[in-house]
Amino acid sequence: MSQPESHPLSKEALAEFRADVANWLEANCPLSQRQPIVREEQIWGGRRRVFPSSDAQQWFEACRDRGFTAPEWPVEYGGAGLDPEEAKVLKQEMTRLGCRPPLYCQGLWMLGPALLVYGNEAQKREHLTAICRGEIRWAQGYSEPSAGSDLANLKTKAEDCGDHFLVNGTKIWTTKADEADWIFCLVRTSDVTPKQAGISFLLIDMATEGVSTSPIPLISGESEFCQTFFDNVKVPKTNLVGELNGGWAVAKELLKHERKMMSAFEGMLEKPAMELLELADYAVGSDAQGRLNDAELRSDMSRHLMREAALGQLGERIYWQGKAKQVDPRLPLLMKHLGTSEAQAKDELILRALGDEGLSMEDPNVSPGLRKMVKQWAFNKSLTIAGGTSEVQLNIIAKRALGMPSGEGKS
Ligand SMILES: Cc1cc2nc3c(=O)[nH]c(=O)nc-3n(C[C@H](O)[C@H](O)[C@H](O)COP(=O)(O)OP(=O)(O)OC[C@H]3O[C@@H](n4cnc5c(N)ncnc54)[C@H](O)[C@@H]3O)c2cc1C
Repeated sequence: MSQPESHPLSKEALAEFRADVANWLEANCPLSQRQPIVREEQIWGGRRRVFPSSDAQQWFEACRDRGFTAPEWPVEYGGAGLDPEEAKVLKQEMTRLGCRPPLYCQGLWMLGPALLVYGNEAQKREHLTAICRGEIRWAQGYSEPSAGSDLANLKTKAEDCGDHFLVNGTKIWTTKADEADWIFCLVRTSDVTPKQAGISFLLIDMATEGVSTSPIPLISGESEFCQTFFDNVKVPKTNLVGELNGGWAVAKELLKHERKMMSAFEGMLEKPAMELLELADYAVGSDAQGRLNDAELRSDMSRHLMREAALGQLGERIYWQGKAKQVDPRLPLLMKHLGTSEAQAKDELILRALGDEGLSMEDPNVSPGLRKMVKQWAFNKSLTIAGGTSEVQLNIIAKRALGMPSGEGKS
């Protein structure tokens, strides 16, 4: 996404905006939507969207109508056209009041930002608007059975048939593809070398004849993923994003946003039954000075909390560098790896503190809230794989941030 023109808002203008937003949130966010989000009540939008309550629907529709589902996207595509600083104020005010995110969607986090850069006007008007309005739910069709880290090895073929492409092949690990309406896909349109130069980026309506999905179960006991099959699927040429055989550039732009989203993923998850220190206190107790009774756990938790705070500061630094259009390009490269590793380090501390209670996701003698935390530990194993594995991220950091020679994989 091109960065908005830097036109620093005066303190007064920002304060006025903050007051306006605070009033608006007070008036439009029902009290029930100021409770911590639970997974079953997240609104993912789409043709088959359901609202868990009339309050949830009211809150979603108020945000949609004010452009607050995509605060920084241009107004003409359904966003609120906010300056990054205003968007930050909105986020702060929503956090202060505990407002739930109005919409969750891969279209919002990944496809939209890439379309803003590479989409043509018709594509932006059709797809960005539908994303902001929560009308279409998107899935990501990148990985294949023999193309994960080595993404450019992908084989799903799109054959040029005049006014349309004929797509054949399969995608794997497609999160929630069985609930999605459309899928953005990388497809092979040429066998040239390098392999990256023969890839195109296509938007495919999942309702098209020949598209099918099959769920894959996970260790958390749920089924987040599908394998998605394309069997002689006709895709109009107008669904090509960017140049024919120029899909790699679009893919990389989108991955930037996927990694950014992944590095902050923890914040989007359901609020745990207990915060870390509260849980540790529950598990091992504290002395009269409020220090945890287990010294080793106390020291490991302190270390984690310091690293977490440092990561927050790094995020702030990147934000302000972005505003000044002076981002040190090495810094965002670090965020996915550091953010996801720290989230997993926290999960390990939670399990350690839980002791026996952390041994099962199903034990009826353990409270449902604590069982959910164990489930989250299992689910979060995926954070260092999805969006590019940590090993590959470290290769990228070694090469691009530290200038060392390395193989890169999904980059
Ligand atoms: C929760 C989750 C959601 C996902 N959602 C989607 C989705 O919606 N759509 C989608 O397209 N994909 C999705 N994926 C797939 C994800 O992008 C891939 O799993 C990831 O890119 C790794 O590919 P792979 O699984 O094929 O592993 P592989 O690439 O086969 O890697 C296997 C192991 O080898 C290591 N390795 C590979 N190459 C190198 C190298 N050059 N140097 C060092 N080590 C290396 C890896 O780090 C890994 O440990 C999702 C994955 C997860 C976990």
